[in-house]
Amino acid sequence: MGKCNFRVGFGYDVHKLVEDRELWLGGVLIPHTKGLLGHSDADVAIHALCDALLGAAALRDIGFHFPDTDPRYKGIDSKKLLVEVVKLLKTHGYSVGNTDLTICAEQPKLNPHIPEMRQVLANCMDVDVDCVSVKATTSEKLGFTGRGEGMSAYATVLIVKE
Ligand code: MG
Repeated sequence: MGKCNFRVGFGYDVHKLVEDRELWLGGVLIPHTKGLLGHSDADVAIHALCDALLGAAALRDIGFHFPDTDPRYKGIDSKKLLVEVVKLLKTHGYSVGNTDLTICAEQPKLNPHIPEMRQVLANCMDVDVDCVSVKATTSEKLGFTGRGEGMSAYATVLIVKE
C-alpha cells in the first residue's frame, strides 16, 4: 500500500495572560492591557500552528524542536519558529496546503487584526493568503479563557508531499 500524499495535522496550545507583557497573536503585536506569558514571545496561535504542521508530518512537537529550557529561544519571535518548522517540513518533502486557526480569547476583540495575521502567517509559510484562515472566538465567559486568565488556540493544517 502506498502512502497518502495528503496529510492533516492538528495543534493546540494555551498560555497564561499576565501584566507587563506584550500581546503577540498570529505574529502581530496587539494593543492590550496584558500579554501572554512564556519562554518565547508566547504567541499561542503560532505555537498551535507549528504543532499542527509538525503533527501532519509526524515530526513530534514544538517543545521537542525548540525546548523552553534552551536560552536560544528566550523571548524569541515565534514567527522565526514557524519559518523553521516550514523549512523542516520542506527537507522532508512536504509543502503547506492550507491552514485553519482558531484563537479563543475573551478580550481584546481580535477581528480587526485578522487580515494582518493572515498576511503575516502566509509570508512566514511562503503560501498565498487565501491558504491561511484565522478565526477568533470567545468561550462565553466560561473557564480560564472566559475569565481572562489565558488564551488558547487550535490549528488544523493540510500538507502535501511533493
Ligand atoms: Mg506555547
